[in-house]
Amino acid sequence: MRQKTINRSIDCSGIGLHSGRKVRLTLRPAEEDSGVRFVVVNDSGRHLITPSPEAVVSTQLATTLHNGAAAVSTVEHLLASVRALGIDNIEIELDGSEVPIMDGSAASFVYLLRLAGLRSQTRPAAYLAVTETVELEKDGKYVRAEPYDGFRVDYTIDFPHPLIGRQAMSFELTPEAFARRLAKARTFGFVREVEYLRSKGLALGGSLDNAVVLDEDGVINADGLRFKDEFVRHKILDFIGDTAVLEAPLRGRFEVFASGHGLNNAFVRKLWSESGRCLERVVPGAGQAPSRRPHLSEPLAQPAAAVA
Ligand SMILES: [Zn+2]
Repeated sequence: MRQKTINRSIDCSGIGLHSGRKVRLTLRPAEEDSGVRFVVVNDSGRHLITPSPEAVVSTQLATTLHNGAAAVSTVEHLLASVRALGIDNIEIELDGSEVPIMDGSAASFVYLLRLAGLRSQTRPAAYLAVTETVELEKDGKYVRAEPYDGFRVDYTIDFPHPLIGRQAMSFELTPEAFARRLAKARTFGFVREVEYLRSKGLALGGSLDNAVVLDEDGVINADGLRFKDEFVRHKILDFIGDTAVLEAPLRGRFEVFASGHGLNNAFVRKLWSESGRCLERVVPGAGQAPSRRPHLSEPLAQPAAAVA
């Protein structure tokens, strides 16, 4: 398998979930071995932000990446799409500090990336293989990983809500399966949370156009759900996005119960900090190779509690 990038630059614009302001997103082809990079252009210049487990600051709303000087929020649905389509190298430029929320799903990003087209490069694509069972548990929620030749997620959620309840789904990652089964599943939240966030001046761009919103009994969106189990599908999409902050695609089987952005990131940090013991970087044809990015000795920020 050779490295891939997109064929041509493509852009779109949408609303930022936090600010409610319009943001322009430009996706550009990138050279081999350059990986996935965000470029945030603001009044103080162009800021390069490279995803890594330590660069993540989880918030109540979405996953944010920080490089010390600049930040970019709501990265997970776009990163999930980039990984799912097998793209190794891409530059993601934004004229604001958040990725547009679009309709709250990954469908627009998959559409955009496919419209740009994919192109194979010459060097082999590296991946990170789980080599031992690893588990992280917190308050009855957990993520467990074991070696597997592919990327498979078995996810269960259990929300005390009449419309959600217990939902479970097994998912084997391929570009087609991602586009067909996960990409359209939207983020979700509860009316009481939305009211609280609004009172704090947060989620100013959040609306029924970009989230499934639930009251005590059901969904308040006029069109209802896109899938009966849209909630667990979105949780798997988020899990793929939250693990996509690693420098290369992961290979493993993941059993996940009731996790969210905060626990997902804590799990990825654990995997990464123990790489060598439970994670191995493989370059097909070249055997084991050292990581191209150095470990940071100190995390930039601790993950905070998070919701979907
Ligand atoms: Zn999400």
